Amino acid sequence: MVTIKSQREIDLMREAGRVVAIAHQEVAKHILPGVSTDELNRIVENTIRSLGAIPSFLNYNGFPASSCISVNDVVVHGIPSKSQILKSGDIVSVDIGAILKGYHGDSAWTYACGDISETAKHLMKVTEESLFQGLSMVKPGARLSDVSHAIQVYAESQGCSVVREFVGHGIGKVMHEDPQIPNFGLPGKGITLRPGMTLAIEPMINSGRKEVKVLSDNWTTKTIDGSLSAHYEHTVLVTQDGYEILTKI
Ligand code: MG
Ligand code: MG
Repeated sequence: MVTIKSQREIDLMREAGRVVAIAHQEVAKHILPGVSTDELNRIVENTIRSLGAIPSFLNYNGFPASSCISVNDVVVHGIPSKSQILKSGDIVSVDIGAILKGYHGDSAWTYACGDISETAKHLMKVTEESLFQGLSMVKPGARLSDVSHAIQVYAESQGCSVVREFVGHGIGKVMHEDPQIPNFGLPGKGITLRPGMTLAIEPMINSGRKEVKVLSDNWTTKTIDGSLSAHYEHTVLVTQDGYEILTKI
């Protein structure tokens, strides 16, 4: 069931989204050569808790950390580790979720560590823009797959590929609500968007082939061909005439 949030719920989701945005702002300062992904995770966790919120990913289906940190060919669900040390040239996707007063915010961003390749720069630019191409379709009366289609068409037009196995989602009292929001598909299908819906839209885009594999830890998901992957996500509200980003400061 797709929920419509009340004004009170929307206000709470704005607060939760702000916590996630502040955690991103803090972690972004530390994406530097020599820093471990475990240190980044601790910054995320400490920031979330210092703002009176709870990291939603910690123990979610057994996930062992407060953020997913996915480096280079890791698409999503990278597990932070003391032994994983960033080096110049890495691209680092940080996915952060927080619960505040019973409501969730969820946002991912890919950051450059030091000097990155032209391929990496292109992928990051395309993936961020694909998110905004998708968001540009969000308004009352639009169909859900209009968003999906816009993301796919843009990413593929730029020579990149769209991951199929993971999708965006509704969000609210629980992190993953209906509907599922694929980043691919034909337009004009799925639910009709209405004011008060809150959605986490999150393209995962690869520089090479679209196929992915899950490693034996049952979390870490990599591109099958070793190509780079990027991930950008915002939690947004459907407004009367478009959308409002909730995961912002
Ligand atoms: Mg996320
Ligand atoms: Mg999400």
